[in-house]
Amino acid sequence: MEFHDKVLKCSECGAEFVFTAGEQMFFADKGFKNEPKRCKACKAKRAESGGGSSGPVRAETKTTCSQCGKETTVPFKPTQGRPVFCRECFQARRSMGAA
Ligand SMILES: [Zn+2]
Ligand SMILES: [Zn+2]
Repeated sequence: MEFHDKVLKCSECGAEFVFTAGEQMFFADKGFKNEPKRCKACKAKRAESGGGSSGPVRAETKTTCSQCGKETTVPFKPTQGRPVFCRECFQARRSMGAA
């Protein structure tokens, strides 16, 4: 596949920026379907103001505790039919030695 530099317009500041052949190759390699919408300056600005969160965001799933019925979040995807406990119930069960 052959790529050529492409001039795109930033959706944020309206400036024209180059979507280079190398970047297009990278996008194609990653399977990205959309072209970049923002210029490098705006992208950098966004990354800075984005709360500085680095690394993968932990997916918290909202669910209801199977024991006390309290709403809680778990750092994993609960399996259907499997009981899910809030932090308190989980610890209470553990200290009781419940299997
Ligand atoms: Zn911009
Ligand atoms: Zn509970």
